[in-house]
Amino acid sequence: TRRSVIVGAGHGGSQLSVSLRQEGYDGEIVLVSDEPDLPYHRPPLSKSYLKSPDAGGLVLRAENAYRDANVELVSGVRAIKIDAAAQTVELSDGQVLPYSELVLATGARARIPDLPGVDLEGVVTLRTIMDARSIRERIDSIDSVAIVGGGFIGMEMAHSFVGLGKKVTLIEAAPRVLARSVAPIVSAHVERRSREAGIDILTDVQLAGLEGENGRVSAVTTSDGRTIAADLVVLGIGAIPNVELARDAGLLLDNGIVVNESLQSSAAGIWAIGDCVSYDHKQAKRRVRLESVQNATDQARHLARVLVGRETAYDEVAWFWSDQGDMKLQTAGLCFDADRALVSGSPEDSAFSVYHFRGDELIAVDSVNKPADHMVARRLLAAGVSPTEADIAAGPQRMKELSG
Ligand code: FAD
Repeated sequence: TRRSVIVGAGHGGSQLSVSLRQEGYDGEIVLVSDEPDLPYHRPPLSKSYLKSPDAGGLVLRAENAYRDANVELVSGVRAIKIDAAAQTVELSDGQVLPYSELVLATGARARIPDLPGVDLEGVVTLRTIMDARSIRERIDSIDSVAIVGGGFIGMEMAHSFVGLGKKVTLIEAAPRVLARSVAPIVSAHVERRSREAGIDILTDVQLAGLEGENGRVSAVTTSDGRTIAADLVVLGIGAIPNVELARDAGLLLDNGIVVNESLQSSAAGIWAIGDCVSYDHKQAKRRVRLESVQNATDQARHLARVLVGRETAYDEVAWFWSDQGDMKLQTAGLCFDADRALVSGSPEDSAFSVYHFRGDELIAVDSVNKPADHMVARRLLAAGVSPTEADIAAGPQRMKELSG
């Protein structure tokens, strides 16, 4: 019989397993997860979960959704070796599974800097629900938190900890927070609002070292010579794709597993989706590796269609959200090589959008507390319609009409 083996049961793997069945795949579907929990939503881990842990609310789909779709979910077991020629994958429990299609949905893991002290008790990263539980367990016994990295996860955690009454210092090496993802005006707004919320943000400052007492972290030192006391240090300096299985099987890698527009890797019979892949993005005109729920789930739905023989090229609009205190940040599209930006709305009212253009082409829109702008932006980008400056100035009604 035909059998699909999916390695990794995060947002991508879980979605693919049920989408395959919805698309009419009639072979066996095996979903291999190295985590013990039922597949769950990751985004709340840095947001609501830290404040009110309710793991039940985190599951992506109930256990019977897998049963009903006739998906065999194998939890707490790692895939450890692929034999691409024999079309088998070996699991950590000793099973060797033959496959007709193998899908790598192995995600990414937190990057850990090469610094003495990173293994001190109280120095943590956040990627999994296990990480979140271990942070939760410490919450009552800590007063001060140092967060290294002003990306989305670092900023979200800073707001969560401040909301829990902790003293929070955030260290960002770049001149502004969220520098890789949003327009400077959005970073400036987020910094101002975050400082008002009580977060001490240091930009242009690097982590120099970690100090400990009796094996527990007590402070961080910085490149500008400060020593900041901290009972908990969160390293939020980015993620690296889990590509070791693919590498050992000889698959082509380039900042992730290289896939084509059908999401197929360089090896016959092996596909890959989500945070672990890089692909040529038509509109961005470059190879990208995206880390978002949208990317993982849209690729999963797309691959399900490919695997039942309904082949089209993957071409979905990228979008992302982040909740930080009372700010809802949303981005549609990808902002590479933008040469012009137009702002609509006002940062003073804490509700505005930034439209990014490359020439006359709209390529991305960052929104702060403007969910309607975000939805319209997604439709404009999907339709390939670029508003003019006059359209944007004319306001939401005109933009809505344009988006069709
Ligand atoms: P993952 O969800 O990481 O799943 C991969 C799974 O594969 C993991 O369970 C991993 O343990 C498992 N695995 C790896 N190797 C093996 C192996 N050899 N055998 C078996 N299993 C294996 N995105 C947004 O769009 N919005 C947000 O607000 C947002 N917030 C986030 C907050 C946090 C704290 C984190 C960590 C991420 C956030 N993201 C957010 C990013 C989003 O969660 C990821 O982009 C998404 O989870 C990617 O899905 P994936 O299936 O590719 O990988």
